[in-house]
Order: sequence, then structure tokens, then C-alpha cells
Amino acid sequence: MNDYYEILGVDRDADATEIKKAYRRKARELHPDHGGDEEAFKDLSVAYETLSDPDKRRIYDLGGSDPTRGGFHGGGAEFGDLGDILGAMFGGFGGAGRGPVPRTRRGQDQLVGVKVSLEEATFGATKEVKVGTYVRCEVCHGSMSEPGSTPVRCPTCNGRGVVEHVQQSFLGAIRTQAPCGTCQGHGDVLPKPCQECSGNGRVRTTKTLSVEIPVGVDEGTRIRLAGKGEVGLGGGPAGDLYLEVHENPHPVFTRRGDDLHTRITVPMTTAALGTTFPLTTLDGPQDVRIKPGTQPGDELRLDGMGVGRLQRPGRGNLYVHVDVEIPKKLDDRSRELLEQLAAHRGEDRVHTPKDGQNLFERLRDKFMGE
Ligand SMILES: [Zn+2]
Ligand SMILES: [Zn+2]
Repeated sequence: MNDYYEILGVDRDADATEIKKAYRRKARELHPDHGGDEEAFKDLSVAYETLSDPDKRRIYDLGGSDPTRGGFHGGGAEFGDLGDILGAMFGGFGGAGRGPVPRTRRGQDQLVGVKVSLEEATFGATKEVKVGTYVRCEVCHGSMSEPGSTPVRCPTCNGRGVVEHVQQSFLGAIRTQAPCGTCQGHGDVLPKPCQECSGNGRVRTTKTLSVEIPVGVDEGTRIRLAGKGEVGLGGGPAGDLYLEVHENPHPVFTRRGDDLHTRITVPMTTAALGTTFPLTTLDGPQDVRIKPGTQPGDELRLDGMGVGRLQRPGRGNLYVHVDVEIPKKLDDRSRELLEQLAAHRGEDRVHTPKDGQNLFERLRDKFMGE
């Protein structure tokens, strides 16, 4: 028999005084000290506790849960379902989740810049990188409690992490949940938080990592180091660490993708006569041949002397761009020699477009074979 009104022997519309009187009378009858039934006396106490409290009585009248016992019985299941449906409809009333919120969480990912030289990008490297981050607390090993102390179940919410409120509305009684204020929704409390980490399970520090820089990285390349980021609250698993590559400019070579470019200046006589000279490349000195008759703006290609390719075999090329230097001042002897050379080559003339011809006419002449 679970009907509280029947247990107390009162009508459904009995007022508080009637309920109190009925309880006193029944309690004397059923009290175990006077030889009464212990089980029946307990039922009576529960019935009175519920019906003497206006809030609890209202819930009971609506067929809701017995708040003194927890859980639902009889028609209460339907009420529970209604609460669930409303909860789903209205987003759980203030965002209170179901069940306790874990104290342990995954740590954040981190992004850290790393400076790399052109040589390191070309051949790869091992670098020491300093990172400000969170690491697991060494005193509590992430447990958040002083050594020897353990979390205890929250007395306010009994470990559920949420507390319930019942409100009347035009839809009937609505059960709402809110995070428990005592335990901040965790369901447990720390009697002695670790002093080293203030109960966070992690501490801030600077650590030095040895990092492999792969061949072929470029400005802005990100290298992911799984599990090398921040340790989470409560000593939770670490996030990932991303290294963002910043390439230091090189004094001699300019990089475009996998290729390198540089510029040399040769005297006009060298451009005309040709030569071989040593060029310092990333791979050391290389003999570079200037062909006789090299023109200003010519480019020389050194195959495979560029930057290594990221996650692909091979290397780019090195391009050497040639400037030709014309003397700005001549001594007497040089002038004499150049005049002799000019006379020898018949170079006393400047080539100009033909007088009176515009660009269109010159192009037409060219097509027509002049
Ligand atoms: Zn600690
Ligand atoms: Zn709590």
C-alpha cells in the first residue's frame, strides 16, 4: 500500500491540521516501542513527511516522485518522462548536463613559432624548442588532492553533480536541473586540494623539447607533435603541439618554392670571353661555368642544388642570374684598347628603329621578311 492519504487515513483534501492530527494518532498506534509494526511505522513517517510539506505534497499529488525516497514509482514515471521531454525541448534548462562533469579534461592544443635557417630547411635539423606550457603536477600526479587525501562524494547532490528544482507552470510541474553549487557540478569535493597545483592537477612551466625539423619545411609550415601540448585540468591527456616554421632570410639565396635564386655580376670582358668560377652553395663551393658570350639577364641552372622537397624525394634547382658590368670610367689605356676593338669589329653604329616607321610597320616588315 503506497497511497499516503490511505496510510494516514485522511481525505485527499485534508488540510495541514487534519494531517498532523491523523499522524499523531497513527504514530501512537504503530510505534514499535508500543509493539507496533516497524514497517508500517516507517511508511507512516514517509507519508507524513511528504504530505506535511506543501511542496512535496504538490509533487505527490501530481503523481511525481517521492522526494524523501528518491526515484519514481506509480504514475511518477510519466511525470519523469514529461520532465525529460521538456528538458529536451528547452535545452536542459540552463545547460545543466546529465550527471557529474568530469574534473579531468583534455589539454589545449598549442601553437609555437620556430625559426629555421635555409640550410635547416634544406637538409632537416634537430632543434631545441622552449615552450611555456602546462605539465602534470608532480606532487599529486594529477589527482588534484594532497597525497593521502581522496575526493569524497558531494553531500549536497549526492554525487550527481546536479540539483533539481520543481516549478509550477502552465504546462504543469516542470523539473529543472542546475549544476550543484557545492561541487560545481563535479559530484565530488576535494577535502584537501593539492597545494602545489591549487587542486588543478597541473602546473605551468617552461619545457625544452628536442624537435625534428623535416627536410623541405617552408615559411608557415606547421609541424604537429601529437600529445606534446598542454596537459589538461585534473592531469588530463595533453593536447597537440603545433610548430609554425618561420624561415630566416638568407644573405645570398632567395627561395621560391623548392628553387633558390641568386645574382652574380661579371665584367663585360668575362661575359664575352667566358670563365669558370667557384660559387659557394648550400652544398659547399661549386664550379660554375660562364659561357663565352653570356648576356645580361642570362640565368644559369644548377640542377638539384635547391631546397629539399617536403615529404617527396629530390631537390629544387639553383638559378644564378647574371648581371654584366660595364666600366663607368676608363683610363687612357683601356679606352685605347676598346677603340681598337670597336674599329676591329666595325662597331661604330647604334641600332635604332628605322626612321619614320612605327611599331606596326616594323612588325609587318618582320613578318614579310623585310
Ligand atoms: Zn598537485
Ligand atoms: Zn554537488
